[in-house]
Amino acid sequence: MDAELLRQYLEFYQDLGIKTLYRQPPPVGQALSPANAPSTGIPMDLPPLAPTNDTLFKIIEDIGDCHRCRLSESRNKIVFGVGNPQAPLVFVGEGPGADEDAQGIPFVGRAGQLLTQMIENTAKKEGIEILRKDIYIANVVKCRPPGNRNPEPDEMEICGQFLHRQLSVIHPKAICALGGIAARALTGHKEGVTKMRGKWFKWQDIPVMVTYHPSYLLRQYNQDAKREAWEDLKRVLHFVYD
Ligand code: URA
Repeated sequence: MDAELLRQYLEFYQDLGIKTLYRQPPPVGQALSPANAPSTGIPMDLPPLAPTNDTLFKIIEDIGDCHRCRLSESRNKIVFGVGNPQAPLVFVGEGPGADEDAQGIPFVGRAGQLLTQMIENTAKKEGIEILRKDIYIANVVKCRPPGNRNPEPDEMEICGQFLHRQLSVIHPKAICALGGIAARALTGHKEGVTKMRGKWFKWQDIPVMVTYHPSYLLRQYNQDAKREAWEDLKRVLHFVYD
Protein backbone atom coordinates (compact mmCIF):
# COMPACT_ATOMS: atom_id res chain seq x y z
CA MET A 1 0.00 0.00 0.00
CA ASP A 2 1.53 3.31 -0.94
CA ALA A 3 1.98 6.10 1.59
CA GLU A 4 -0.47 8.39 -0.19
CA LEU A 5 -3.27 5.85 0.02
CA LEU A 6 -2.52 5.19 3.68
CA ARG A 7 -2.74 8.95 4.28
CA GLN A 8 -6.13 9.03 2.49
CA TYR A 9 -7.44 6.21 4.68
CA LEU A 10 -6.26 8.02 7.79
CA GLU A 11 -7.94 11.22 6.67
CA PHE A 12 -11.11 9.36 5.86
CA TYR A 13 -11.29 7.81 9.31
CA GLN A 14 -10.47 11.11 10.96
CA ASP A 15 -13.29 12.75 8.96
CA LEU A 16 -15.61 10.23 10.53
CA GLY A 17 -14.42 11.38 13.92
CA ILE A 18 -13.05 7.97 14.74
CA LYS A 19 -9.92 8.37 16.79
CA THR A 20 -8.98 4.72 17.02
CA LEU A 21 -9.67 1.75 14.84
CA TYR A 22 -9.03 -0.67 17.65
CA ARG A 23 -11.79 -3.22 18.12
CA GLN A 24 -11.45 -6.33 20.21
CA PRO A 25 -11.19 -9.24 17.77
CA PRO A 26 -13.34 -12.30 18.43
CA PRO A 27 -11.70 -15.11 20.39
CA VAL A 28 -9.25 -17.01 18.24
CA GLY A 29 -11.33 -20.15 18.39
CA GLN A 30 -14.22 -18.36 16.69
CA ALA A 31 -12.18 -16.45 14.18
CA LEU A 32 -10.54 -19.55 12.80
CA SER A 33 -12.38 -22.26 11.01
CA PRO A 34 -10.95 -25.13 9.01
CA ALA A 35 -12.73 -23.82 5.91
CA ASN A 36 -10.98 -20.47 6.18
CA ALA A 37 -7.62 -21.55 7.48
CA PRO A 38 -4.77 -21.22 4.99
CA SER A 39 -3.72 -24.43 3.32
CA THR A 40 -0.23 -25.44 4.34
CA GLY A 41 0.86 -25.51 0.70
CA ILE A 42 1.17 -21.74 0.18
CA PRO A 43 4.85 -21.01 -0.31
CA MET A 44 4.85 -17.59 1.27
CA ASP A 45 4.98 -15.66 4.42
CA LEU A 46 1.46 -14.81 5.53
CA PRO A 47 0.92 -13.09 8.86
CA PRO A 48 -1.26 -14.90 11.42
CA LEU A 49 -4.97 -15.17 10.58
CA ALA A 50 -6.12 -13.59 13.84
CA PRO A 51 -3.34 -11.52 15.41
CA THR A 52 -4.04 -10.29 18.94
CA ASN A 53 -5.42 -6.75 19.04
CA ASP A 54 -5.67 -6.63 15.26
CA THR A 55 -6.70 -3.37 13.58
CA LEU A 56 -7.41 -2.28 10.04
CA PHE A 57 -4.15 -0.34 10.05
CA LYS A 58 -2.21 -3.40 11.10
CA ILE A 59 -3.78 -5.27 8.19
CA ILE A 60 -2.86 -2.47 5.77
CA GLU A 61 0.68 -2.59 7.11
CA ASP A 62 0.84 -6.37 6.77
CA ILE A 63 -0.42 -6.18 3.20
CA GLY A 64 2.32 -3.67 2.47
CA ASP A 65 3.42 -3.50 -1.14
CA CYS A 66 2.03 -6.99 -1.61
CA HIS A 67 3.57 -9.37 -4.13
CA ARG A 68 2.18 -12.57 -2.68
CA CYS A 69 0.32 -13.53 -5.86
CA ARG A 70 0.42 -12.88 -9.60
CA LEU A 71 -2.31 -10.20 -9.42
CA SER A 72 0.33 -7.82 -8.10
CA GLU A 73 2.13 -7.94 -11.47
CA SER A 74 -0.52 -5.97 -13.32
CA ARG A 75 -2.19 -3.95 -10.59
CA ASN A 76 -1.96 -0.21 -10.26
CA LYS A 77 -3.29 0.23 -6.71
CA ILE A 78 -4.16 -2.17 -3.93
CA VAL A 79 -7.86 -1.75 -3.11
CA PHE A 80 -8.08 -2.36 0.61
CA GLY A 81 -11.62 -1.38 1.56
CA VAL A 82 -13.59 1.73 2.38
CA GLY A 83 -16.23 2.97 4.79
CA ASN A 84 -17.02 3.04 8.46
CA PRO A 85 -14.58 0.74 10.29
CA GLN A 86 -17.31 0.13 12.89
CA ALA A 87 -20.05 -0.50 10.36
CA PRO A 88 -22.76 -2.96 11.34
CA LEU A 89 -23.01 -3.97 7.67
CA VAL A 90 -20.20 -4.98 5.28
CA PHE A 91 -20.61 -5.55 1.55
CA VAL A 92 -18.13 -7.91 -0.05
CA GLY A 93 -17.50 -7.89 -3.80
CA GLU A 94 -15.27 -9.98 -5.97
CA GLY A 95 -12.29 -7.84 -6.90
CA PRO A 96 -11.41 -4.40 -8.22
CA GLY A 97 -12.17 -3.39 -11.78
CA ALA A 98 -10.32 -0.78 -13.86
CA ASP A 99 -11.73 2.27 -12.04
CA GLU A 100 -11.06 0.78 -8.61
CA ASP A 101 -7.53 -0.19 -9.67
CA ALA A 102 -6.90 3.40 -10.76
CA GLN A 103 -8.32 5.01 -7.61
CA GLY A 104 -7.56 2.41 -4.93
CA ILE A 105 -11.17 2.50 -3.67
CA PRO A 106 -13.71 -0.31 -4.08
CA PHE A 107 -16.89 0.06 -6.11
CA VAL A 108 -16.32 3.46 -7.69
CA GLY A 109 -17.02 2.50 -11.33
CA ARG A 110 -20.42 1.91 -12.93
CA ALA A 111 -21.17 -1.11 -10.78
CA GLY A 112 -20.14 0.91 -7.74
CA GLN A 113 -22.43 3.76 -8.65
CA LEU A 114 -25.30 1.29 -8.96
CA LEU A 115 -24.38 -0.24 -5.60
CA THR A 116 -24.36 3.21 -3.96
CA GLN A 117 -27.77 4.00 -5.48
CA MET A 118 -29.15 0.64 -4.41
CA ILE A 119 -27.98 1.11 -0.81
CA GLU A 120 -28.97 4.74 -0.44
CA ASN A 121 -32.30 4.62 -2.32
CA THR A 122 -33.46 1.41 -0.67
CA ALA A 123 -32.51 2.70 2.77
CA LYS A 124 -34.33 5.98 2.16
CA LYS A 125 -37.46 4.23 0.88
CA GLU A 126 -37.45 1.97 3.92
CA GLY A 127 -36.97 4.87 6.34
CA ILE A 128 -33.44 3.81 7.30
CA GLU A 129 -31.08 6.74 7.62
CA ILE A 130 -27.83 5.50 6.17
CA LEU A 131 -25.54 6.51 3.36
CA ARG A 132 -22.78 4.56 1.64
CA LYS A 133 -20.19 6.05 4.02
CA ASP A 134 -21.96 4.40 6.97
CA ILE A 135 -21.32 0.88 5.77
CA TYR A 136 -18.03 -0.83 4.85
CA ILE A 137 -17.11 -2.23 1.44
CA ALA A 138 -14.32 -4.68 0.61
CA ASN A 139 -13.49 -7.35 -1.95
CA VAL A 140 -12.35 -10.95 -1.86
CA VAL A 141 -9.17 -9.98 -3.74
CA LYS A 142 -7.50 -6.57 -3.37
CA CYS A 143 -5.80 -6.36 -6.75
CA ARG A 144 -7.53 -6.23 -10.11
CA PRO A 145 -7.59 -9.53 -11.99
CA PRO A 146 -6.33 -8.77 -15.53
CA GLY A 147 -9.16 -8.17 -17.98
CA ASN A 148 -11.62 -8.52 -15.08
CA ARG A 149 -11.30 -12.32 -15.14
CA ASN A 150 -12.50 -14.25 -12.09
CA PRO A 151 -9.91 -14.51 -9.33
CA GLU A 152 -8.17 -17.90 -9.21
CA PRO A 153 -8.61 -20.12 -6.12
CA ASP A 154 -5.02 -19.57 -4.92
CA GLU A 155 -5.36 -15.79 -5.31
CA MET A 156 -8.57 -15.87 -3.26
CA GLU A 157 -6.97 -18.06 -0.64
CA ILE A 158 -3.98 -15.78 -0.19
CA CYS A 159 -5.88 -12.49 -0.27
CA GLY A 160 -8.83 -13.98 1.61
CA GLN A 161 -6.66 -14.04 4.72
CA PHE A 162 -6.74 -10.26 4.78
CA LEU A 163 -10.48 -10.10 4.17
CA HIS A 164 -10.87 -12.58 7.01
CA ARG A 165 -8.95 -10.22 9.29
CA GLN A 166 -10.93 -7.17 8.12
CA LEU A 167 -14.21 -8.93 8.88
CA SER A 168 -12.90 -10.14 12.23
CA VAL A 169 -11.86 -6.60 13.23
CA ILE A 170 -15.05 -4.90 12.03
CA HIS A 171 -17.23 -7.76 13.25
CA PRO A 172 -20.42 -6.43 11.62
CA LYS A 173 -23.94 -7.55 12.47
CA ALA A 174 -24.33 -8.84 8.90
CA ILE A 175 -22.42 -9.23 5.66
CA CYS A 176 -23.88 -8.92 2.17
CA ALA A 177 -22.06 -11.02 -0.44
CA LEU A 178 -22.26 -9.50 -3.91
CA GLY A 179 -22.25 -12.23 -6.55
CA GLY A 180 -21.27 -15.86 -6.68
CA ILE A 181 -17.53 -15.47 -6.15
CA ALA A 182 -17.96 -13.56 -2.88
CA ALA A 183 -20.82 -15.81 -1.80
CA ARG A 184 -18.81 -19.00 -2.33
CA ALA A 185 -15.65 -17.53 -0.78
CA LEU A 186 -17.48 -16.45 2.38
CA THR A 187 -19.83 -19.37 2.89
CA GLY A 188 -17.93 -22.30 1.41
CA HIS A 189 -21.11 -23.31 -0.46
CA LYS A 190 -20.69 -24.29 -4.08
CA GLU A 191 -24.03 -23.35 -5.64
CA GLY A 192 -24.51 -20.57 -8.17
CA VAL A 193 -25.71 -17.17 -7.06
CA THR A 194 -29.24 -17.72 -8.40
CA LYS A 195 -29.68 -20.59 -5.95
CA MET A 196 -28.04 -18.79 -3.04
CA ARG A 197 -29.47 -15.30 -3.35
CA GLY A 198 -32.05 -14.10 -0.88
CA LYS A 199 -30.92 -16.67 1.69
CA TRP A 200 -28.97 -16.33 4.91
CA PHE A 201 -25.69 -18.17 5.36
CA LYS A 202 -22.95 -17.64 7.93
CA TRP A 203 -19.37 -16.46 7.94
CA GLN A 204 -18.06 -17.48 11.37
CA ASP A 205 -20.92 -16.33 13.63
CA ILE A 206 -22.04 -13.52 11.30
CA PRO A 207 -25.13 -13.84 9.07
CA VAL A 208 -24.38 -13.47 5.35
CA MET A 209 -27.04 -12.46 2.84
CA VAL A 210 -26.23 -13.34 -0.76
CA THR A 211 -27.39 -11.22 -3.64
CA TYR A 212 -26.49 -10.50 -7.26
CA HIS A 213 -23.37 -8.55 -8.13
CA PRO A 214 -24.26 -5.04 -9.38
CA SER A 215 -22.29 -5.68 -12.61
CA TYR A 216 -24.68 -8.52 -13.35
CA LEU A 217 -27.60 -6.18 -12.81
CA LEU A 218 -26.00 -3.66 -15.17
CA ARG A 219 -25.49 -6.24 -17.91
CA GLN A 220 -28.83 -7.89 -17.48
CA TYR A 221 -32.00 -6.52 -18.89
CA ASN A 222 -33.73 -8.91 -16.59
CA GLN A 223 -36.04 -6.89 -14.40
CA ASP A 224 -36.63 -9.92 -12.19
CA ALA A 225 -32.98 -10.03 -11.08
CA LYS A 226 -33.07 -6.34 -10.24
CA ARG A 227 -36.28 -6.72 -8.28
CA GLU A 228 -34.79 -9.68 -6.44
CA ALA A 229 -31.62 -7.76 -5.57
CA TRP A 230 -33.69 -4.91 -4.16
CA GLU A 231 -35.68 -7.42 -2.08
CA ASP A 232 -32.43 -8.95 -0.75
CA LEU A 233 -31.11 -5.54 0.17
CA LYS A 234 -34.30 -4.62 1.98
CA ARG A 235 -34.05 -7.79 4.04
CA VAL A 236 -30.45 -7.19 5.01
CA LEU A 237 -31.01 -3.51 5.82
CA HIS A 238 -34.00 -4.27 8.05
CA PHE A 239 -32.11 -7.09 9.75
CA VAL A 240 -29.22 -4.77 10.56
CA TYR A 241 -30.93 -1.47 11.31
CA ASP A 242 -34.41 -2.29 12.74
N1 URA B 1 -16.60 -5.22 -8.78
C1 URA B 1 -16.22 -5.74 -7.59
O1 URA B 1 -16.47 -6.90 -7.30
N2 URA B 1 -15.54 -4.97 -6.76
C2 URA B 1 -15.25 -3.70 -7.01
O2 URA B 1 -14.62 -3.05 -6.18
C3 URA B 1 -15.67 -3.17 -8.24
C4 URA B 1 -16.35 -3.93 -9.11
